[in-house]
Amino acid sequence: MNYQYYMPTKVIMGEDCILNHSDIFKTLGKRAMLVTGARSAKLNGSASDVTSALEAVGISYIVFDKVMSNPTVACVYEGAALAKENEVDFIIAIGGGSPMDAGKAIALLATQEIEETELFKGKYENKVLPIVAVPTTAGTGSEVTQYSILTNDRAETKMSIASNYIFPAVAFLDARYMAALSHTTLVNTAVDALSHAVEGLLSVRRSFLSDALALESIQYITEALKTIKAMDVPGKITAEMREKLLYASFMAGVVIAQTGTTVVHAMGYALTYFKEVDHGKANGLLMGSYLSLVEKEAPELAAKVLSAMSFTSVAEMNELILPLLGEKIALTEEEIEHYTQKVLKTSNILNCTVKPEKKDVTDMYVTSLK
Ligand code: NAP
Ligand code: FE
Repeated sequence: MNYQYYMPTKVIMGEDCILNHSDIFKTLGKRAMLVTGARSAKLNGSASDVTSALEAVGISYIVFDKVMSNPTVACVYEGAALAKENEVDFIIAIGGGSPMDAGKAIALLATQEIEETELFKGKYENKVLPIVAVPTTAGTGSEVTQYSILTNDRAETKMSIASNYIFPAVAFLDARYMAALSHTTLVNTAVDALSHAVEGLLSVRRSFLSDALALESIQYITEALKTIKAMDVPGKITAEMREKLLYASFMAGVVIAQTGTTVVHAMGYALTYFKEVDHGKANGLLMGSYLSLVEKEAPELAAKVLSAMSFTSVAEMNELILPLLGEKIALTEEEIEHYTQKVLKTSNILNCTVKPEKKDVTDMYVTSLK
């Protein structure tokens, strides 16, 4: 068997892990830039833990807190300009997938001149600033992936920078930061992580290792979603379950770092770009339709995914997930045709074990959204 596995991120998990390992920052340089969204990192304790740790080891820092959800190309160029102007040595990206992805692109653009038109073409030099990632949602797994997903208005879609140079050097996983997550963000991000694990199992690039991680991740996330669904009113999950979700999304991140994502993510990007559907929700709406297609051509593969959730049918999976995602959206025939054309050009399609034809993509949009 020929097989390669590469995941160079040092992952440190547990309560107070940042303060307990502040010495690590000294190995990365003398001046840091924190990359965050506008509010949450300041409110959930993650930014203050990072700044306390930096102060404890005498490292100065600046803050770029302008990352919006689904960060734009313009945002990361602005952040990179600030990093260059202040000659920072490393980046600490704190937040959900948006600040982590922005932080990775900033780390790349702070060290090399890349025109906007060249940004997604894969030609990068091996001189990216070291990246520390602090996830505060349990969803994207960006803390352990080589992807930075940005909104590219030129191409009217979300696109990935994919490079081994942007794997974070260190990821700190402290589930306490998730305590104040809204119900909607908790659910959507958990469903994103579930989608990574499921798509990993359905990828042509899967392996014995990615399958093992994906199956474990699916079990944890399904258990959490069942608990959340059983709550009469949106409430707080336990600290133990938050930690399990963070662990599960990290594992699912390791999975997609090996397998890539499939047509589910490709189709979701159009819903996010054109209809502002949250990333995880978009995947959750579409996942059942793709699993149904897989069931027709590779029933044993679909059964593997479903049995990890203790389900025997796609309908049962949908019954768990869809009610948690809120309102569906309506698309016109023209919109479906437009999005389908875009999806067919993505590289995600190549990862699919069961390759969807044009008609399949169109049908999946129709069945997912009715
Ligand atoms: P997000 O866009 O990073 O954050 C969503 C919202 O949650 C923001 O309003 C944010 O507020 C808030 N938030 C974050 N952490 C919080 C906390 N602990 N408590 C309270 N509120 C909190 O959402 P995400 O779903 O984590 O990331 C989505 C992005 O990741 C998309 O762009 C997607 O394409 C990308 N993604 C990347 C990968 C990868 O491998 N790189 C994989 C999948 C998805 P603030 O803005 O104030 O922080
Ligand atoms: Fe995702």
